[in-house]
Amino acid sequence: MSTSINTQDKKRSESSVFYLLISFLLVFSTLLLFFTSGLLSSAPAALQYSPSTTLHNSTTTPPSETEKPQLECRGIIFIDPGHGFRNINGTLDRGAGHNTYFYRYSGGMFEYQLVMIISRKIAEVLEARGFTVLMTRDGGMDTMMSRSQRIAMAYNAGSILFLSVHANAFAHSNPAVARSAQGARIYFNRNNPHGFGEQNYLFSRYLAAAIDRTPGASTRQVSLFNNRNFTELQASMPSSLIEVLFLTNPQDAAKAATPAWQYLMARSLAYGIEYFVESRLSS
Ligand SMILES: [Zn+2]
Repeated sequence: MSTSINTQDKKRSESSVFYLLISFLLVFSTLLLFFTSGLLSSAPAALQYSPSTTLHNSTTTPPSETEKPQLECRGIIFIDPGHGFRNINGTLDRGAGHNTYFYRYSGGMFEYQLVMIISRKIAEVLEARGFTVLMTRDGGMDTMMSRSQRIAMAYNAGSILFLSVHANAFAHSNPAVARSAQGARIYFNRNNPHGFGEQNYLFSRYLAAAIDRTPGASTRQVSLFNNRNFTELQASMPSSLIEVLFLTNPQDAAKAATPAWQYLMARSLAYGIEYFVESRLSS
């Protein structure tokens, strides 16, 4: 009897040591998982740029090799939200605004604010699809930066595409004529000094097609224009400049003031960028 009790006690103590060991292993592995998952999830955040990341200050403090994105990504897309900087005389370049229907419908917004909203949305869509997006400004800064500095910034960051985002305004002494211009316009430079003429044209065609395929994105079919004067289109990479709509057209301006349209236009542009990148990979 006593022998059997002793045996049971021994078994019990053996099993409690066993359970203690299992518990210890469980706690240890849980802790290990917790720390490694924390490290893994924090790694991309530390290395990847967020949509609002700007390289504006990189002219004074260039990012070191280790700060450049190290993770596999589908490429760096450079978005340039037009205007938003101080001019040489110190005044903020707001772009179009006053005397536009958009200014009235949006409660006092200017072009530089609208294109910032759209650019941020483009960045969100692209980053969700595996691209890294850099921008010339993040909406909070207003230090002067020339157009040539913007394209140099894109090149130095290793960007594969440059897209400048603007909104149009048509000034005319006859208000009826001023109101008449509407829809998106896209500019490319077929005479790009770095040999990207055809790529610029193709890139712009992809953007236009993506907008035209999206009901409600543009109030009329997108027009394409060759323009050798825009500095933004002198970049050493495929580049394009879009005027998303006319702030001076009542129909366009009403759309521009709504988050739904802002997202629709941004998503179209993001898809146009993605299609173009894919087309280059497959060709
Ligand atoms: Zn503009």
